[in-house]
Amino acid sequence: MGERAPWNIIFDSHFHLSGKNTWEDALRRFLRYFGNAINLVNLPDYSLEPDNYYEEIYLRTVKVANLIREAFKIHVEVSIGPYPLDFFYFQESGKNPRYEMFKGLHLAAKYISDGKASGFGEVGRPHFQVDPMVMEISNDVITESMMLAKDLDTYVMLHTEDLNTDSIREIEGLARKVGINIERVIKHHAKIEILGDVPRMPKTLLATRNNVKLMIESGRYAMLESDYANDPMNPDKLIPPESVPKRAIMIRQNFENYENIFQKIFQDIPYSAFGDDFFKV
Ligand SMILES: [Zn+2]
Repeated sequence: MGERAPWNIIFDSHFHLSGKNTWEDALRRFLRYFGNAINLVNLPDYSLEPDNYYEEIYLRTVKVANLIREAFKIHVEVSIGPYPLDFFYFQESGKNPRYEMFKGLHLAAKYISDGKASGFGEVGRPHFQVDPMVMEISNDVITESMMLAKDLDTYVMLHTEDLNTDSIREIEGLARKVGINIERVIKHHAKIEILGDVPRMPKTLLATRNNVKLMIESGRYAMLESDYANDPMNPDKLIPPESVPKRAIMIRQNFENYENIFQKIFQDIPYSAFGDDFFKV
């Protein structure tokens, strides 16, 4: 590990903290390797009652974001919105999932317009095969989130099944119908194979060593994420919280043009996806 940060912005584009567990430790691990910006995405908690579910989740996320800014002085984007699997949670609770999730989106819009959160995420559709009715409602949620994001001049970060060339174009089609700028529609957990598809659509890539290597070899860039889940039963899920800053160190050590790479993944793409407020100091 070097003595100085390898770049002025080291941004993890998809990071969760529960606000309940040892989240400060996870953040210290991120900071130790010079990470200095995260996109904090709300985490579902199905131990909560379905009434006021989103209010509780959003408040929790905003509170943690404020604590982080105060205690650690780093940049925090805050993404809130209904998680695709909330569908099943509401269904099992005897509620109308579509109605509840739309309510969740509109509450998120209120938080965003009040300046408490930055944008929508992670919203979308389940990452496994579901019946057509669930797919249809999930697509309605995507469309609604795009309409709200467009009106609020912000972004939407999508959680979906693994997209291929056809399905990423389908998402682009939804965005075109709504009229939202595709640069504000972020594909979370993108696969290497689609980095070249719909090139103006920002992607975020799980920051494993192999992914980062393949991305750089391909010459097509994405933001990097740990999708850290702060799960006490599985402390390094999906990958450890220091993964993005560690990959930054790896890139600096292995690639002569590391400054160009950093410029793309930590500045150009996040600024156009997250907007002008990204990393304003
Ligand atoms: Zn996530």
